Amino acid sequence: MKTIRMRLILVYSAITIATLVVIGFFINGSINQLFEQYAKDRQKSQIEYIRNQIPELYQEESESFDIQGIEVAANAALQNGLIVHIQTMNQEIDWDINTHKNQECQLMLQHSENNMHSRYPNFVGGYTEEKYDFLYGDHKTGHVIIGYYGPYSLDDNELILINEINKILFLLGVIFLVLVVLLTVLISRSITYPITSAITVAGKIANGKYGTQIDQKSRNEETQNLIDAINDMSVKLQTEEKQKRQITADVAHELRTPLSNLQGNLEAMLDGIWEPNQEKLLSCHEEIIRLASIVQQMQVLYSLENRNEQLECESIDFSVLCRSLSVDFAMKLEAKQIRLTVYAKKGDIVWGDRYKIRQCMINLISNAIQYSDVGGEIELHISNDDQYTTILVKDHGVGIPADELPNLFERFYRVDKSRSTKTGGMGIGLSITKAIVERHGGMISVESTPGKGSTFIMTFPQKSEK
Ligand code: ADP
Repeated sequence: MKTIRMRLILVYSAITIATLVVIGFFINGSINQLFEQYAKDRQKSQIEYIRNQIPELYQEESESFDIQGIEVAANAALQNGLIVHIQTMNQEIDWDINTHKNQECQLMLQHSENNMHSRYPNFVGGYTEEKYDFLYGDHKTGHVIIGYYGPYSLDDNELILINEINKILFLLGVIFLVLVVLLTVLISRSITYPITSAITVAGKIANGKYGTQIDQKSRNEETQNLIDAINDMSVKLQTEEKQKRQITADVAHELRTPLSNLQGNLEAMLDGIWEPNQEKLLSCHEEIIRLASIVQQMQVLYSLENRNEQLECESIDFSVLCRSLSVDFAMKLEAKQIRLTVYAKKGDIVWGDRYKIRQCMINLISNAIQYSDVGGEIELHISNDDQYTTILVKDHGVGIPADELPNLFERFYRVDKSRSTKTGGMGIGLSITKAIVERHGGMISVESTPGKGSTFIMTFPQKSEK
């Protein structure tokens, strides 16, 4: 399989060569046309010159020509490729350079033919004659016959010039082609280098080196998007991997104590140290239920954090939700004589997954009840602005020390281990609540004063028209 670089070089070179060939044909044709016209004009002006020169050599008194002058003029014309033949009307003079210098004339014609065939191998030409009368005053005194290799011919200098121009053009073409190949190599390098880095990094990620990043930047939008996507993927895989390790460590840590308690109790009963009575079996059963609950909550948290679960968002009437929750919590509230006040009117809406928003409220209200003193009060508030819905769950209970607040939403985090163990908390409720709120694109925070109470604040984005 060919590399992108090789493909680019081949394609650009082929395009350049094709362009050069077309331009070459065009320039060559133009040059030939130009030189043909030039040679024809030159020949014409030389013939014109001879035609004007001959009458000047006519001597009126003797009614004849100055033969010496004619010889000089005809020899000069021969140098320019013209064969001159002069005849007077009275046939007194019939002077032909061919009879005097036949060999030179033949050589000149052969030379012109060779010149033309060396440049244009298929050139069709041959000896051509033109006859012109010349007058003295108003009477015809004779005529001149001018022969040459026609229809036109290039002389040595013109041939050298035309060949030099072609050489220069060819050289320019080669230089241009080399430049294009060099430029293509540079361009293809800038395209393929980031791709090669992306392939290397993707290979590392595939081998489990999550978090590896492509440092390369690309000037091409598509390649840069590819780099960004791989970098994002790498970071996400790393985060997921960290989460998995963290969860495994957390779960192992959390399960170790209850499991070893359970193991110890059961072994004691099996060894006959303890009598397996109703009370001990009940304690073991409770521990097993607690373990099962931890595992189940971990599953919920994992699928929320990894976005495996789809949200089914709808408009939820907060006042209706709170009414239903106060029914559910009626017994617990009554047991501690706590008053639950709802500050919401019908039509106060929160946009979200009904089941999951309810789960958040259950977690926060049960905590509020758990950490409130007997006879306390819990408040539920809702408010809406242009973009967000804010829900507050406020209690007047024990509160949380300021230094504990930053870790509060971490899984298995408990402010007071002994207190929580006594009250049965596992430190997962707030992690689940936070995961649900963030899954909705919202935020959760807490304000608390020890001894005075805590307020949990959840902010949800409102339904977007998009
Ligand atoms: P738990 O199951 O232990 O309640 P959470 O994740 O819900 O787990 O809460 C974590 C810890 O935060 C609790 O153990 C408790 O110490 C503290 N906490 C939560 N809510 C409150 C509250 N309303 N008042 C005081 N402390 C709270």
